[in-house]
Amino acid sequence: MTHPPSLADIAAQLEAYDPQALPANEVLNFLDHLVTPVQDSELVDIFAALGRVTAQDVISPINVPPHDNSAMDGFAFDGAPLSASQALSLKVVGTALAGKGWEGSVNAGECVKIMTGAIMPKGLNTVVPQELCSMTASDVVEIPAGLLKAGDNLRLCGEDIMQGQAALLKGAWITPAAAGLLASLGVPNVSVVRRLRVAYFSTGDEILSLGQAPREGAVYDSNRYTVHGMLQALGCEMIDMGVVKDNPELLEQAFNKATEQADAIITSGGVSVGEADFTKAMMKKLGDVVFWKIAMRPGRPMAVGRIQKGQRSAVLFGLPGNPVAVMVTFLAFVKPALLKMMGSTATPLPMLRARTQEVLRKKPGRTEYQRGIFSRNAQGELQVITTGNQGSGVLSSMVQANGLIVLSHQQDTAQLGDWVDVLVL
Ligand code: AMP
Ligand code: MG
Repeated sequence: MTHPPSLADIAAQLEAYDPQALPANEVLNFLDHLVTPVQDSELVDIFAALGRVTAQDVISPINVPPHDNSAMDGFAFDGAPLSASQALSLKVVGTALAGKGWEGSVNAGECVKIMTGAIMPKGLNTVVPQELCSMTASDVVEIPAGLLKAGDNLRLCGEDIMQGQAALLKGAWITPAAAGLLASLGVPNVSVVRRLRVAYFSTGDEILSLGQAPREGAVYDSNRYTVHGMLQALGCEMIDMGVVKDNPELLEQAFNKATEQADAIITSGGVSVGEADFTKAMMKKLGDVVFWKIAMRPGRPMAVGRIQKGQRSAVLFGLPGNPVAVMVTFLAFVKPALLKMMGSTATPLPMLRARTQEVLRKKPGRTEYQRGIFSRNAQGELQVITTGNQGSGVLSSMVQANGLIVLSHQQDTAQLGDWVDVLVL
């Protein structure tokens, strides 16, 4: 096995690496070099596969649909004699039902009554929907001129998926649609990437767990709940390690336990510059870790690296303490890295563009993530307004928001009515 690159190796490859003012793009770049996809896979049934990522291409053993069939209830016939100027009269000689086809022969001037999904009788290639034709006698149907062409209302064998074709590629998310597609192939099980194991804990002497009595200077731990929710949405296996006090022994124990069990560790708090605590020292002691000031708001401080315990190592995401900063850095940086570790190759949805309903003051040189509420204006265009107080501790701004307004690194103040990027939440 080749050794993963050291953080210094990764940093040396990046063009604009400045740990004191790291642009958001470089953070993504760095993390993309740092993390690698989990290699283990497991075979699970389709219900259990929902929300997981395929570990290999899924090759279809059959054609879907398995035979040419009718897309409509109506009459199947040979489309060759259709003309633009003359109605076509055909004698009905039989009926084809879904699951019970018509086996008899059909001669020129004849047709077969057919139901949606029924196999096309031999030699026929066109279906007239019953609402487009009329019965001129009990067994004669008339098709008006100019309505149809040969091949209409026919579903071809293999038009959805051909036998031997990859129905899903490696790295695909098993969405409800993908689960249905797998079932349509008659495939009961699918090989998926093992769930990513993520351990997380909050740090800080002032952080209270729920159930503890309030005391002066202390705040309740909210980060563990937002992180838990965001991890759950990704389908990770979660290891909740609670609140860890700012104490070297407890921190060391927590990091060791997390590294023994998890692929990734997410902490919050204790990584800012002024921090006179043991968290940063312990991260440094136990692994290869860098401490960044990211050119962003909210966010800024973040620790990243690998924590070691014997032969095992886990990727560390040391998030800031402020509750909004935790969510923003998770969504902007940790989520894409975790998706890569989960084996996902899906392209992220693009951001939307909306007209800002207020002036958004900003200087070039950092990326800003403002909490926004977007909607449609009277002209039908997307518009966005901030949720008010944008303090990095104001979690209610995240609750009210349905999107993050992302003001890019280079951008300066956005004037009223300017188009801005919005990341949908
Ligand atoms: P720090 O990054 O540790 O300096 O923390 C920055 C701010 O975030 C401080 O006001 C902390 O009290 C607050 N904070 C840190 N961790 C949490 C947490 N788990 N839940 C809520 N607030 C937190
Ligand atoms: Mg702190």
